[in-house]
Amino acid sequence: MTDPVAASLALGDAAVVAAEHVVTPDGVLSPGWLEIADGRIASVRPGPPPGPAAHRGHWALPGFIDMHVHGGGGAAFTEGGPDDARRAAAFHRAHGTTRIIASLVTAPLEELERRSAMLADLADDGVIDGIHLEGPFLSSARCGAQNPRYLTLPDVAAFGRLQAASRGWLRMITIAPELPGAADVIRAATAAGVIAAAGHTDASSEATAEGIAAGISHATHLFNGMRPIAHRYPGPVVALLDHPVTCEVIADGHHLDDLIIRLAARSAGPGNLVLITDAMAAAGMSDGDYRLGELDVTVSAGVARLVDADGAAGSIAGSTATMDLVARRAITAVGLPVADVAAAAGTTPARCLGIDDVTGSLRAGLAADIALLDEDFRLTSVIARGQLGQPAS
Ligand SMILES: [Zn+2]
Repeated sequence: MTDPVAASLALGDAAVVAAEHVVTPDGVLSPGWLEIADGRIASVRPGPPPGPAAHRGHWALPGFIDMHVHGGGGAAFTEGGPDDARRAAAFHRAHGTTRIIASLVTAPLEELERRSAMLADLADDGVIDGIHLEGPFLSSARCGAQNPRYLTLPDVAAFGRLQAASRGWLRMITIAPELPGAADVIRAATAAGVIAAAGHTDASSEATAEGIAAGISHATHLFNGMRPIAHRYPGPVVALLDHPVTCEVIADGHHLDDLIIRLAARSAGPGNLVLITDAMAAAGMSDGDYRLGELDVTVSAGVARLVDADGAAGSIAGSTATMDLVARRAITAVGLPVADVAAAAGTTPARCLGIDDVTGSLRAGLAADIALLDEDFRLTSVIARGQLGQPAS
Protein backbone atom coordinates (compact mmCIF):
# COMPACT_ATOMS: atom_id res chain seq x y z
CA MET A 1 0.00 0.00 0.00
CA THR A 2 1.22 3.50 -0.77
CA ASP A 3 2.15 5.45 2.32
CA PRO A 4 0.00 8.59 2.05
CA VAL A 5 2.50 10.61 4.06
CA ALA A 6 5.42 9.71 1.80
CA ALA A 7 3.26 10.24 -1.27
CA SER A 8 1.86 13.55 -0.11
CA LEU A 9 2.80 16.71 -1.86
CA ALA A 10 2.19 20.28 -0.94
CA LEU A 11 -0.37 21.99 -3.11
CA GLY A 12 1.64 25.20 -3.26
CA ASP A 13 0.36 28.68 -2.52
CA ALA A 14 -3.16 28.15 -3.81
CA ALA A 15 -4.89 25.36 -5.65
CA VAL A 16 -8.33 24.77 -7.06
CA VAL A 17 -10.33 21.62 -6.28
CA ALA A 18 -13.40 21.14 -8.50
CA ALA A 19 -16.27 18.65 -8.45
CA GLU A 20 -19.59 18.05 -10.17
CA HIS A 21 -21.14 18.17 -6.69
CA VAL A 22 -19.57 19.95 -3.71
CA VAL A 23 -21.37 19.13 -0.44
CA THR A 24 -21.40 22.23 1.77
CA PRO A 25 -23.31 22.96 5.00
CA ASP A 26 -25.63 25.23 2.99
CA GLY A 27 -26.42 22.72 0.26
CA VAL A 28 -24.83 20.90 -2.64
CA LEU A 29 -23.14 23.04 -5.31
CA SER A 30 -23.52 21.32 -8.71
CA PRO A 31 -20.95 22.04 -9.93
CA GLY A 32 -18.71 23.83 -7.49
CA TRP A 33 -15.09 24.49 -6.64
CA LEU A 34 -12.89 25.27 -3.67
CA GLU A 35 -9.75 27.31 -3.44
CA ILE A 36 -7.27 26.01 -0.90
CA ALA A 37 -4.24 27.85 0.42
CA ASP A 38 -1.91 27.32 3.38
CA GLY A 39 -3.71 24.13 4.35
CA ARG A 40 -7.09 25.86 4.60
CA ILE A 41 -10.17 26.31 2.48
CA ALA A 42 -9.90 29.90 1.23
CA SER A 43 -13.26 29.92 -0.55
CA VAL A 44 -16.10 27.67 -1.72
CA ARG A 45 -17.99 28.77 -4.83
CA PRO A 46 -20.72 27.51 -7.14
CA GLY A 47 -20.25 26.97 -10.88
CA PRO A 48 -17.29 25.81 -12.93
CA PRO A 49 -13.82 26.86 -11.75
CA PRO A 50 -12.27 29.91 -13.46
CA GLY A 51 -9.18 27.98 -14.55
CA PRO A 52 -7.73 24.49 -14.55
CA ALA A 53 -8.34 22.56 -11.34
CA ALA A 54 -5.41 20.85 -9.63
CA HIS A 55 -7.78 18.17 -8.33
CA ARG A 56 -11.12 16.95 -9.58
CA GLY A 57 -13.74 14.62 -8.24
CA HIS A 58 -17.33 13.81 -9.08
CA TRP A 59 -18.23 14.45 -5.45
CA ALA A 60 -16.36 16.60 -2.91
CA LEU A 61 -17.19 15.78 0.71
CA PRO A 62 -15.64 16.89 3.99
CA GLY A 63 -12.75 14.60 4.93
CA PHE A 64 -14.04 11.74 7.07
CA ILE A 65 -13.73 11.85 10.87
CA ASP A 66 -13.65 8.44 12.55
CA MET A 67 -14.53 8.74 16.25
CA HIS A 68 -14.18 5.03 16.94
CA VAL A 69 -11.31 3.05 15.43
CA HIS A 70 -8.84 0.60 16.99
CA GLY A 71 -6.49 -0.04 14.09
CA GLY A 72 -6.06 -0.98 10.45
CA GLY A 73 -3.56 -2.02 7.83
CA GLY A 74 -2.19 -4.75 10.11
CA ALA A 75 -1.39 -2.33 12.96
CA ALA A 76 -3.32 -1.07 15.99
CA PHE A 77 -3.66 1.57 18.67
CA THR A 78 -4.50 -1.19 21.16
CA GLU A 79 -1.16 -3.02 21.02
CA GLY A 80 2.33 -2.45 19.66
CA GLY A 81 4.31 0.79 19.83
CA PRO A 82 4.04 4.30 18.39
CA ASP A 83 5.16 3.16 14.93
CA ASP A 84 2.27 0.68 14.82
CA ALA A 85 -0.15 3.44 15.78
CA ARG A 86 1.33 5.68 13.05
CA ARG A 87 0.86 2.88 10.52
CA ALA A 88 -2.77 2.37 11.54
CA ALA A 89 -3.43 6.13 11.23
CA ALA A 90 -1.74 6.30 7.80
CA PHE A 91 -3.81 3.34 6.61
CA HIS A 92 -7.07 5.07 7.53
CA ARG A 93 -5.92 8.43 6.16
CA ALA A 94 -5.42 6.70 2.79
CA HIS A 95 -9.08 5.69 3.05
CA GLY A 96 -10.30 9.27 3.45
CA THR A 97 -10.18 9.61 7.26
CA THR A 98 -8.60 13.00 7.79
CA ARG A 99 -9.19 13.06 11.59
CA ILE A 100 -8.87 10.03 13.83
CA ILE A 101 -9.91 9.36 17.41
CA ALA A 102 -7.87 6.33 18.48
CA SER A 103 -9.93 3.86 20.53
CA LEU A 104 -8.51 1.66 23.26
CA VAL A 105 -10.23 -1.49 24.51
CA THR A 106 -10.58 -2.55 28.14
CA ALA A 107 -7.23 -3.46 29.72
CA PRO A 108 -5.66 -3.18 33.19
CA LEU A 109 -5.70 0.43 34.41
CA GLU A 110 -1.89 0.78 34.29
CA GLU A 111 -1.85 -0.48 30.71
CA LEU A 112 -4.57 2.00 29.72
CA GLU A 113 -2.58 4.81 31.37
CA ARG A 114 0.58 3.78 29.52
CA ARG A 115 -1.18 3.52 26.15
CA SER A 116 -3.06 6.79 26.69
CA ALA A 117 0.27 8.54 27.34
CA MET A 118 1.73 7.06 24.15
CA LEU A 119 -1.30 8.14 22.12
CA ALA A 120 -1.16 11.64 23.67
CA ASP A 121 2.37 11.97 22.25
CA LEU A 122 1.02 11.05 18.80
CA ALA A 123 -1.83 13.55 19.19
CA ASP A 124 0.76 16.22 20.04
CA ASP A 125 2.43 15.30 16.72
CA GLY A 126 -0.88 15.55 14.80
CA VAL A 127 -0.95 11.83 13.91
CA ILE A 128 -4.30 11.36 15.69
CA ASP A 129 -6.80 13.88 17.04
CA GLY A 130 -7.69 12.35 20.37
CA ILE A 131 -8.34 9.24 22.41
CA HIS A 132 -11.49 7.22 23.07
CA LEU A 133 -11.53 4.86 26.04
CA GLU A 134 -13.91 1.98 25.30
CA GLY A 135 -13.97 0.81 28.90
CA PRO A 136 -13.13 -0.25 31.50
CA PHE A 137 -16.51 0.71 33.09
CA LEU A 138 -18.67 -1.59 30.93
CA SER A 139 -21.30 -4.28 31.49
CA SER A 140 -19.96 -7.83 31.65
CA ALA A 141 -23.33 -8.93 30.20
CA ARG A 142 -22.65 -6.95 27.01
CA CYS A 143 -18.86 -6.99 26.88
CA GLY A 144 -18.58 -8.18 23.25
CA ALA A 145 -14.89 -8.13 22.40
CA GLN A 146 -13.91 -6.40 25.67
CA ASN A 147 -11.86 -8.61 27.99
CA PRO A 148 -14.26 -9.29 30.92
CA ARG A 149 -11.31 -9.87 33.26
CA TYR A 150 -10.46 -6.14 33.26
CA LEU A 151 -13.95 -4.65 33.48
CA THR A 152 -14.33 -2.60 36.67
CA LEU A 153 -17.05 -0.59 38.34
CA PRO A 154 -17.06 3.13 37.51
CA ASP A 155 -14.59 4.99 39.71
CA VAL A 156 -13.94 8.73 39.57
CA ALA A 157 -10.36 8.36 40.84
CA ALA A 158 -9.55 5.80 38.11
CA PHE A 159 -11.13 8.09 35.53
CA GLY A 160 -8.95 10.94 36.85
CA ARG A 161 -5.81 8.83 36.39
CA LEU A 162 -6.76 7.98 32.80
CA GLN A 163 -7.58 11.57 32.04
CA ALA A 164 -4.29 12.79 33.50
CA ALA A 165 -2.35 10.22 31.45
CA SER A 166 -4.08 11.47 28.29
CA ARG A 167 -2.84 15.06 28.88
CA GLY A 168 -5.98 16.72 27.51
CA TRP A 169 -6.39 14.37 24.53
CA LEU A 170 -9.09 12.17 26.06
CA ARG A 171 -12.14 13.02 23.93
CA MET A 172 -14.59 10.26 24.83
CA ILE A 173 -15.23 7.48 27.32
CA THR A 174 -17.74 4.69 26.76
CA ILE A 175 -19.55 3.68 29.93
CA ALA A 176 -22.50 1.44 30.91
CA PRO A 177 -24.89 3.85 32.67
CA GLU A 178 -26.57 1.17 34.83
CA LEU A 179 -23.40 0.36 36.79
CA PRO A 180 -23.17 1.70 40.37
CA GLY A 181 -21.14 4.91 40.38
CA ALA A 182 -21.69 5.55 36.66
CA ALA A 183 -23.43 8.89 37.19
CA ASP A 184 -20.40 10.26 39.11
CA VAL A 185 -17.99 9.28 36.32
CA ILE A 186 -20.38 10.66 33.67
CA ARG A 187 -20.48 13.97 35.56
CA ALA A 188 -16.68 14.01 36.01
CA ALA A 189 -16.18 13.33 32.30
CA THR A 190 -18.57 16.00 31.08
CA ALA A 191 -17.12 18.52 33.55
CA ALA A 192 -13.70 17.76 32.05
CA GLY A 193 -14.99 18.27 28.49
CA VAL A 194 -14.86 14.54 27.73
CA ILE A 195 -17.83 13.03 25.83
CA ALA A 196 -19.64 10.46 28.01
CA ALA A 197 -20.98 7.78 25.68
CA ALA A 198 -23.36 4.95 26.55
CA GLY A 199 -22.18 1.60 25.31
CA HIS A 200 -21.59 -2.07 26.13
CA THR A 201 -24.66 -1.70 28.31
CA ASP A 202 -27.47 -3.86 29.63
CA ALA A 203 -29.37 -0.83 30.97
CA SER A 204 -33.11 -0.36 31.09
CA SER A 205 -34.52 2.65 29.26
CA GLU A 206 -34.98 4.33 32.66
CA ALA A 207 -31.33 3.81 33.68
CA THR A 208 -30.22 5.03 30.26
CA ALA A 209 -32.36 8.17 30.63
CA GLU A 210 -30.77 8.78 34.06
CA GLY A 211 -27.34 8.49 32.43
CA ILE A 212 -28.39 11.01 29.79
CA ALA A 213 -29.60 13.34 32.56
CA ALA A 214 -26.16 12.99 34.18
CA GLY A 215 -24.43 13.99 30.92
CA ILE A 216 -24.34 11.15 28.40
CA SER A 217 -24.49 12.79 24.97
CA HIS A 218 -23.43 10.00 22.61
CA ALA A 219 -24.13 6.33 21.87
CA THR A 220 -21.25 3.94 21.17
CA HIS A 221 -22.11 1.71 18.18
CA LEU A 222 -25.89 1.83 18.70
CA PHE A 223 -27.40 -1.68 18.88
CA ASN A 224 -24.04 -3.51 19.03
CA GLY A 225 -22.97 -4.34 22.60
CA MET A 226 -26.40 -3.30 23.92
CA ARG A 227 -29.47 -5.09 25.21
CA PRO A 228 -31.69 -5.40 22.11
CA ILE A 229 -35.07 -3.69 21.71
CA ALA A 230 -38.13 -5.60 22.92
CA HIS A 231 -41.56 -4.09 22.53
CA ARG A 232 -42.28 -4.09 26.28
CA TYR A 233 -38.66 -3.52 27.29
CA PRO A 234 -37.30 -0.77 25.05
CA GLY A 235 -33.87 -0.73 26.75
CA PRO A 236 -30.92 1.52 25.94
CA VAL A 237 -31.38 1.75 22.15
CA VAL A 238 -34.83 3.31 22.29
CA ALA A 239 -33.91 5.58 25.21
CA LEU A 240 -30.87 6.87 23.29
CA LEU A 241 -32.92 7.46 20.13
CA ASP A 242 -35.60 9.18 22.23
CA HIS A 243 -33.11 11.88 23.34
CA PRO A 244 -31.02 14.34 21.32
CA VAL A 245 -27.82 12.30 21.60
CA THR A 246 -25.48 11.49 18.72
CA CYS A 247 -25.53 7.82 17.71
CA GLU A 248 -22.69 5.83 16.15
CA VAL A 249 -23.54 3.09 13.67
CA ILE A 250 -21.23 0.59 11.95
CA ALA A 251 -22.52 0.51 8.36
CA ASP A 252 -20.21 -2.27 7.18
CA GLY A 253 -22.99 -4.63 6.11
CA HIS A 254 -22.15 -7.10 8.91
CA HIS A 255 -22.76 -5.37 12.26
CA LEU A 256 -26.24 -4.06 11.43
CA ASP A 257 -28.86 -4.77 8.83
CA ASP A 258 -29.11 -1.85 6.41
CA LEU A 259 -32.80 -1.48 7.25
CA ILE A 260 -31.89 -0.97 10.92
CA ILE A 261 -29.43 1.78 9.91
CA ARG A 262 -32.15 3.47 7.87
CA LEU A 263 -34.49 3.30 10.87
CA ALA A 264 -31.78 4.63 13.22
CA ALA A 265 -30.92 7.45 10.80
CA ARG A 266 -34.54 8.55 10.57
CA SER A 267 -35.07 8.21 14.29
CA ALA A 268 -31.90 10.03 15.35
CA GLY A 269 -32.25 12.70 12.63
CA PRO A 270 -29.58 13.72 10.12
CA GLY A 271 -27.69 15.88 12.63
CA ASN A 272 -27.30 13.05 15.14
CA LEU A 273 -26.11 10.06 13.12
CA VAL A 274 -22.36 9.30 13.21
CA LEU A 275 -20.70 6.78 10.90
CA ILE A 276 -17.75 4.94 12.43
CA THR A 277 -15.63 1.97 11.42
CA ASP A 278 -14.79 0.40 14.83
CA ALA A 279 -12.01 -1.11 12.71
CA MET A 280 -9.29 -3.31 14.14
CA ALA A 281 -5.85 -4.23 12.80
CA ALA A 282 -7.27 -6.62 10.20
CA ALA A 283 -8.90 -3.78 8.21
CA GLY A 284 -7.31 -3.79 4.77
CA MET A 285 -5.63 -7.15 5.40
CA SER A 286 -6.44 -10.69 4.33
CA ASP A 287 -8.48 -13.17 6.38
CA GLY A 288 -6.51 -14.82 9.19
CA ASP A 289 -5.64 -14.55 12.88
CA TYR A 290 -5.23 -11.22 14.68
CA ARG A 291 -5.30 -9.73 18.18
CA LEU A 292 -7.58 -7.14 19.77
CA GLY A 293 -5.92 -6.12 23.02
CA GLU A 294 -5.18 -9.47 24.68
CA LEU A 295 -7.91 -11.38 22.85
CA ASP A 296 -7.50 -13.64 19.80
CA VAL A 297 -9.58 -12.73 16.79
CA THR A 298 -10.07 -14.64 13.57
CA VAL A 299 -11.17 -12.93 10.36
CA SER A 300 -13.17 -14.94 7.86
CA ALA A 301 -14.79 -13.41 4.74
CA GLY A 302 -13.92 -9.98 6.17
CA VAL A 303 -15.81 -10.53 9.46
CA ALA A 304 -13.70 -10.38 12.64
CA ARG A 305 -14.82 -12.66 15.48
CA LEU A 306 -13.38 -13.57 18.88
CA VAL A 307 -11.95 -17.06 19.16
CA ASP A 308 -13.80 -18.77 22.02
CA ALA A 309 -12.08 -21.12 24.50
CA ASP A 310 -13.21 -24.14 22.46
CA GLY A 311 -11.74 -22.58 19.31
CA ALA A 312 -15.15 -21.72 17.82
CA ALA A 313 -15.96 -18.29 16.38
CA GLY A 314 -17.61 -16.02 18.99
CA SER A 315 -18.72 -12.37 19.19
CA ILE A 316 -18.07 -9.95 16.34
CA ALA A 317 -14.86 -8.18 17.37
CA GLY A 318 -14.56 -4.82 15.71
CA SER A 319 -14.72 -4.48 11.95
CA THR A 320 -12.45 -4.61 8.94
CA ALA A 321 -14.13 -1.52 7.49
CA THR A 322 -12.78 1.85 6.41
CA MET A 323 -14.61 5.18 6.35
CA ASP A 324 -14.70 5.32 2.54
CA LEU A 325 -16.45 1.93 2.60
CA VAL A 326 -19.01 2.79 5.30
CA ALA A 327 -19.77 6.16 3.66
CA ARG A 328 -20.25 4.51 0.25
CA ARG A 329 -22.44 1.76 1.73
CA ALA A 330 -24.50 4.32 3.65
CA ILE A 331 -25.31 5.95 0.30
CA THR A 332 -25.56 2.96 -2.04
CA ALA A 333 -26.86 0.14 0.23
CA VAL A 334 -28.63 1.98 3.07
CA GLY A 335 -29.94 4.67 0.73
CA LEU A 336 -29.20 7.78 2.81
CA PRO A 337 -28.92 11.14 1.00
CA VAL A 338 -25.32 12.11 0.20
CA ALA A 339 -25.60 15.30 2.25
CA ASP A 340 -26.74 13.29 5.29
CA VAL A 341 -23.81 10.91 4.85
CA ALA A 342 -21.39 13.85 4.58
CA ALA A 343 -22.83 15.07 7.89
CA ALA A 344 -22.67 11.64 9.55
CA ALA A 345 -19.08 11.01 8.39
CA GLY A 346 -17.68 14.50 8.99
CA THR A 347 -19.79 17.43 10.15
CA THR A 348 -21.56 15.74 13.08
CA PRO A 349 -18.49 13.99 14.54
CA ALA A 350 -16.65 17.34 14.29
CA ARG A 351 -19.47 18.99 16.24
CA CYS A 352 -19.53 16.31 18.96
CA LEU A 353 -15.75 16.47 19.29
CA GLY A 354 -15.83 20.29 19.53
CA ILE A 355 -13.57 20.67 16.47
CA ASP A 356 -16.21 22.04 14.09
CA ASP A 357 -14.41 25.40 14.06
CA VAL A 358 -11.38 23.55 12.62
CA THR A 359 -12.73 20.82 10.32
CA GLY A 360 -15.78 18.75 9.34
CA SER A 361 -17.33 20.97 6.64
CA LEU A 362 -16.42 22.38 3.26
CA ARG A 363 -16.50 25.98 4.45
CA ALA A 364 -14.07 28.89 4.04
CA GLY A 365 -11.66 29.20 6.95
CA LEU A 366 -11.65 25.53 7.94
CA ALA A 367 -8.79 23.09 7.33
CA ALA A 368 -8.62 21.74 3.78
CA ASP A 369 -9.78 18.23 4.76
CA ILE A 370 -11.50 16.91 1.66
CA ALA A 371 -12.55 13.51 0.29
CA LEU A 372 -13.04 13.33 -3.48
CA LEU A 373 -15.23 10.49 -4.77
CA ASP A 374 -16.14 9.25 -8.25
CA GLU A 375 -19.71 8.84 -9.58
CA ASP A 376 -19.94 5.44 -7.84
CA PHE A 377 -18.90 7.04 -4.53
CA ARG A 378 -15.46 5.41 -4.58
CA LEU A 379 -12.66 7.46 -3.03
CA THR A 380 -10.32 8.95 -5.64
CA SER A 381 -8.32 11.54 -3.64
CA VAL A 382 -7.77 12.54 -0.04
CA ILE A 383 -6.64 16.02 0.93
CA ALA A 384 -5.74 16.32 4.62
CA ARG A 385 -4.80 19.76 5.99
CA GLY A 386 -4.13 20.78 2.36
CA GLN A 387 -1.79 17.84 1.71
CA LEU A 388 -2.71 15.46 -1.08
CA GLY A 389 -2.52 11.78 -0.17
CA GLN A 390 -2.78 8.78 -2.44
CA PRO A 391 -5.99 6.87 -1.81
CA ALA A 392 -5.56 3.17 -1.16
CA SER A 393 -7.11 0.97 -3.80
ZN1 LIG B 1 -14.74 -0.47 19.53
